Amino acid sequence: MRVTELYEKKKPVISMEFFPPRTEKAEASFGGVVDTLAESNPDYMAVTFGAGGSTRDGSYQTVKQIMIDKNLPTVAYIAGFGLGPDEIIEVLDKYKALGVETIFVIRGDRPRDADFKGHPESLPYASDMIEFIKKRYDFTLGCAGYPEGHIEAPSLEKDIEYLKLKVDKGAEYVVTQYFYDNAYYFDYVGKCRAAGVDVPIVPGVMPVYTIKLTRMLSDVCGSTITDALREKIEAVDPDDKGAVLNLGIDFAVDQCKGLLETGVPGLHFYTMDRAKSTTEIIRRLRPDGLL
Ligand SMILES: Cc1cc2nc3c(=O)[nH]c(=O)nc-3n(C[C@H](O)[C@H](O)[C@H](O)COP(=O)(O)OP(=O)(O)OC[C@H]3O[C@@H](n4cnc5c(N)ncnc54)[C@H](O)[C@@H]3O)c2cc1C
Repeated sequence: MRVTELYEKKKPVISMEFFPPRTEKAEASFGGVVDTLAESNPDYMAVTFGAGGSTRDGSYQTVKQIMIDKNLPTVAYIAGFGLGPDEIIEVLDKYKALGVETIFVIRGDRPRDADFKGHPESLPYASDMIEFIKKRYDFTLGCAGYPEGHIEAPSLEKDIEYLKLKVDKGAEYVVTQYFYDNAYYFDYVGKCRAAGVDVPIVPGVMPVYTIKLTRMLSDVCGSTITDALREKIEAVDPDDKGAVLNLGIDFAVDQCKGLLETGVPGLHFYTMDRAKSTTEIIRRLRPDGLL
């Protein structure tokens, strides 16, 4: 499945992102999570890749499980950080043999392990990865975009210059980092278009799952917890798991409505390998005819 064909044919395209399960318990429930989410009829699933090759086998097995065993259209990710050219080729050859047609290419971040030593020839940026892959494979390629600017970028404008480079090197669609104010996304798309980025820019949606996780991810990813969201978070008992989940669902439904009303190419859900929130958000969007 080539994702770009979906974005050409259909609007909005619904995609759901998973990471390879990290524990035996998570592995045991993972298939059920995917099955439940598949009932919402997403257009494709996507499987992340741990930087430094940390989930190399797990990512492959997860792609295989979703794409082959469950017969669902699937995009495989590759994060180049620390991988040498031969290792990139090894990963991609396996995906190609499996029948994967779309690869989402990211740089990844330095693993937390202080002793981690990357390959001396690993490629510094995602644009270098895209160039490397494009020369050798016929995959459709996607890349990441950051409506609030990437956390290391000197400015949003500079970050968009590098996004343009990724597209010029061969990325055919962009999925964004999540954000909690649609204004970030609309402003970003406007600036990207002005900079000549003319491929689909798909908003990433991260519902609040737990308050602790939201705060932690916001620090790592640089996605602002807006005043509107903070007020809602402060009004709920953080230990009331159901209330927190419902807050996240309500907030995401409003956000998705605002995005869909402007004709976004799709919605990309960061499921965090959990079924309930994304299922409920989609269920509540359907009656409005927005999906
Ligand atoms: C949709 C999505 C999915 C993700 N999936 C994963 C995943 O599966 N695994 C994972 O480990 N991480 C994942 N990430 C996180 C990602 O790896 C990190 O955000 C990482 O820090 C940047 O990756 P990138 O591909 O955007 O990097 P790049 O595009 O290489 O950019 C990294 C930084 O370098 C700057 N830059 C880019 N090119 C140049 C240049 N030529 N010269 C100087 N500076 C430059 C950019 O402005 C930016 O600040 C994902 C992020 C998103 C948004």
